[in-house]
Amino acid sequence: MNKETILGVQVSKETYSSITDKLFNLMGTSDQAFIVAVNPEKIMKAAEDPELKDLINAADYQIPDGIGILIASRLQKGSVRDRITGIDLMQTLVAEAEKREKKIFLYGGKPGVADKAAAQIQLDHPKINIAGTINGYEKDEEKIIETINAANPDILFVALGSPKQEEWIKANKQRLNVSVFQGVGGSFDVIAG
Ligand code: UDP
Repeated sequence: MNKETILGVQVSKETYSSITDKLFNLMGTSDQAFIVAVNPEKIMKAAEDPELKDLINAADYQIPDGIGILIASRLQKGSVRDRITGIDLMQTLVAEAEKREKKIFLYGGKPGVADKAAAQIQLDHPKINIAGTINGYEKDEEKIIETINAANPDILFVALGSPKQEEWIKANKQRLNVSVFQGVGGSFDVIAG
């Protein structure tokens, strides 16, 4: 495990290219990977909230989305050196998915936001295959699962805010035929502009 523990919370010691390679290599296998972004605020909260700590530690990759994580690592003589932000990792995965002809799906955000973000992604990456979108206020859980499975994406970006998106991924990933799950917070809002 290429990880370090900060206040009981695991943090991945990956670079954009090492994590991207690992994620794309598991596509086509039965393995799944779940990515959560951690920042100092989340680590402080998790240090006092065992359920939140377990939820973060249940992910496969806890990316250090915050310079404070690198500082904390240095203070404990650790070796987390590369900051990986949620939105930049999402953009990296999107670019790689276009290159490798893999499908993405956007779930979350207010009605219309995921569609707007998808349109922007399609403009930036003409060959990307966006398998679908669902807004983050859809109530019918079964319909959400069925829609995603029917679209059969390789990567599912979930933007419900933290920790809601991580709880949703943990609760549902086994029912989904998706390889990579990334919780991306407000990233669809940023991409939609
Ligand atoms: N959101 C959603 N469904 C919900 C609650 C929130 O889709 O039930 C969306 C909200 O529209 C926003 C995102 O989740 O796009 C949360 O963004 P925020 O920046 O607050 O998340 P953070 O990155 O701070 O976790």
